Order: sequence, then C-alpha cells, then structure tokens
Amino acid sequence: MNTSLFELFKIGIGPSSSHTVGPMRAALRFAQTLDRRFELADIAGLIVDLYGSLALTGLGHGTNRAILLGLTGEAPDTVDPAVIDAELEAIRATGTLYLLDREPVPFTEQEHLHFHREQMYPDPEEPTHPNGMRFRALLADGSVILEEVFYSIGGGFILSAEEFASQQDAATRSVPFPFSSAAELLSVSAKNRLTIAELLLANEVALLDDVSIRRPPAENVSNGTPEERVKAGILAIWRTMEACTELGLKTEGILPGGLRVRRRAPRLAHRLETEGAKDPLAAMDWVTVYAMAVNEENAAGGRVVTAPTNGAAGVIPAIAHYYMRFIEGADDEGIVCYFLTAAAIGILYKENASISGAEVGCQGEVGVACSMAAGGLVAALGGNNDQVEHAAEIAMEHNLGMTCDPIGGLVQIPCIERNGMGAVKAINAARMAMHETEGHKLSLDQVIATMYQTGLDMQSRYKETSLAGLALNVIEC
Ligand code: SF4
Repeated sequence: MNTSLFELFKIGIGPSSSHTVGPMRAALRFAQTLDRRFELADIAGLIVDLYGSLALTGLGHGTNRAILLGLTGEAPDTVDPAVIDAELEAIRATGTLYLLDREPVPFTEQEHLHFHREQMYPDPEEPTHPNGMRFRALLADGSVILEEVFYSIGGGFILSAEEFASQQDAATRSVPFPFSSAAELLSVSAKNRLTIAELLLANEVALLDDVSIRRPPAENVSNGTPEERVKAGILAIWRTMEACTELGLKTEGILPGGLRVRRRAPRLAHRLETEGAKDPLAAMDWVTVYAMAVNEENAAGGRVVTAPTNGAAGVIPAIAHYYMRFIEGADDEGIVCYFLTAAAIGILYKENASISGAEVGCQGEVGVACSMAAGGLVAALGGNNDQVEHAAEIAMEHNLGMTCDPIGGLVQIPCIERNGMGAVKAINAARMAMHETEGHKLSLDQVIATMYQTGLDMQSRYKETSLAGLALNVIEC
C-alpha cells in the first residue's frame, strides 16, 4: 500500500485534478528542481510542451493557468483562488514570469507554451500516459540546462518520466496492515478483528511522519494522540468540503469558459427549502444539489477537495452531507469512519486500476467516487466489512463503460449533473448491499479489474479529449 487518505483527499483548486492540480504541481516541482540545482538568475527562457489529453482539453481545464502559477511558486492547496486572475493578468500584461516569485523570465503563452494536439505522448515511440508534459529551461545562449517530463496520472498525482518508468510514485511505505486487493483488505480486517475504517486509521497513524504527504493546515492536526491527529486531519478535509458546498449553494451566475452554463445549485436549493417539506424524495434532491454545488465551484476554479479527482469532487461530500442531515445520530465519528472507509476503497482503484479520466474514462472518476461513497456510507451507517465491499462493487458495476466527453473541454457538461447522479447511485448501492442477506456473485476485485480493462479498451477519443460523445454532438455556442 503506497497511497495515503490525504493524497486521495487533497485540498486544491478547480476545475481539474489531472489538468489543473497535476500540471501546477509538476510546474512547481520543475521550478524547485531548477532552484536546487542551478542559479535561477541564469535562466533566460522556459519552454513547456503539453501532449495528448492535456493538449486537447487543457485550455478548457485551465492547464495553461496552472502551469504559469506553478512556475511562479504557487501550490494547489495554498494558492488563493481570489488572487489567481490578478496574478495571471500581471504575467500576461508584461510577458514576464517570476520563477518561484523571484527571478524574471520572459514568458508568453503564445511563444513558450505549446499544445501538441496531434501528438499523444512526449515520445511517440514510447506510449506512456496520455497526460504528458515536458519542461525545459534555457540559458542565454539557447542551450537547455534542465529538461524534465512529467505525467499527470489522475487525482492530482504526478510522476516524473523516471518514476513512471519504474512505476513508483513514492518509496514503498511501511504500514501495519498492508493490502493490495479487496479480498486481502477483508481478510486482514477479519484476522485482526478490525473494521475497514479501523484498519485504515492504523495505517494512517503509521504514515503521520511521512513528510511527502501534504496534510491540511497544521493548526488542525498538530495536537493530540496520533489517532486524534489523523481524525483532525480528516475533519479538516470535511470542513473544507463543507465550505465549498456552502459557497456553491449561494453563488449565482454564469460559469467561466464560454459555454454560458448557469449555476443551478442556489436555485434548486431555494426550491427545496421552500417546497421540499412536502416532497417525499427531497433527501435525494438535496444529495443532487450538494453534489452540483461542489462541482459548480470546481468549474468556477474555486477551492475544492479532490475526491478522488476534481471532476468527481461532488459525490463524496454530497453523501457526507446526506449522512449528517438525514441520518439520525450522525456525528463526526461517523464522518471519520465514512472517509476512512471510502479512502480504503479509493486506494484499491488507485493502485490496481486508474482514477484518470484520460486513461479509463469517467468510470475512473465519477464511477470510483460513487464506489468509494457507497462503501463509506455503509460503514457510517454501521454496516459490516462485507457489506462495504458489496456496496462498492454494486456502485462501480453500474458505472462500467462510462466515457469522458466534456463539452468544450470544460468540466461542466456532463460533469456537474453526473456528480449528482453518481451520489444518488451511491445511496442506492449502499441500501441494496445493506438489505442483502445472502452473498453476491461479483467481487469488488473483479469489478475493479473489469473497469480497468474496459478503460484500456475504450477508444482514446472517449477519454478526456473532447473529440467524441457529447463533446462532438453538441455545438458550442
Ligand atoms: S466527464 Fe467525468 S471524467 Fe470527464 S471531465 Fe467530466 S467528470 Fe471528469
């Protein structure tokens, strides 16, 4: 097991974890490497190349903005969304970018940021991941002083070319209860008489001193026992999701990008507040509205938590809101149990398949979020480990084959509504699993393997390229 809950649930900005958060992190890492190995004052130029899905949908997903911000030293979890436009405007107006906010380098998007829409990979001879990018730094005589290739592999995770080749995104981490499959997760839990949430909590405690894992702000997580610190970190993630939802529920207007998509969550929430009491399905409508509120904030480039991606960021908070608002006796302990269990399921997908829409389509984003939320909800409601596994399996089974075809390359249509649908499906899956008294035919491991294989078989134009599906059949206006 190599992934922490705090890497699956990361504070970042919209609209995309793979196309915004990942490239920003890659650009920042490149700038920091330059700073470590050379004098920044010697750098006379920069060239950034984007390939594959990043080139095809990068403008709609804000990849250009993310690259500029990362090079200037901004990180997704600390950048203030309110100042981004002003920072970018300053770079664009002067044609100068300050590397790590210190050294000026000439940079215009037209001249120095290249979108290779016809080329899928940085090295066409070696097909790797469809979200490739290359950074080069030049000296005054035009020679390249540093060149690095990164891949944004989904959920804001990045790998350098070397890490990708060796398939290591971190040193192997030591935890008390490692697991590499759902079957192993169930058997280790049973052998140690632990719930899945308890097992993951013990693993997260063991990772507390790992400085490569970025955690929520220190003031929330620095006190108490190790268990309390992990739980405080989870609650800090949840509070960020709550703040995002709240903002989405009250912010009206048109989303950026040119599609002129109107924010709907505030209007729908108002209707529910005034008429919902008479509606027997109001709880389901609230779940949809919560998910849409988060994804409208994401589409607007606001502060969101990847869960496990930005495009799918609404499902998990929507189910947490559902639990807190509609389940009697719901409390913070239940929320912690929900997130720990959901993370254990997310780790299975991240490590055995993919959470990248560019690699496996939307089944790897909203499908995975739905599966995580279904299993997490079962745990928060007091279900057992087998029911958690069953719910996660049902939820993914009915997302298999879902493509990624955002209109105009924007994370708006179908993404915003799709999160609402995914959240409702998660509740349905949790209820089906908890009402079942006998075993089930398909295992979660089988459905994860099926999802991955289906994703690999999917034509690439259905994987975050905006070359097919809705993106092809709906005229942008
Ligand atoms: S369609 Fe799904 S995978 Fe594609 S951008 Fe939207 S949410 Fe992400």
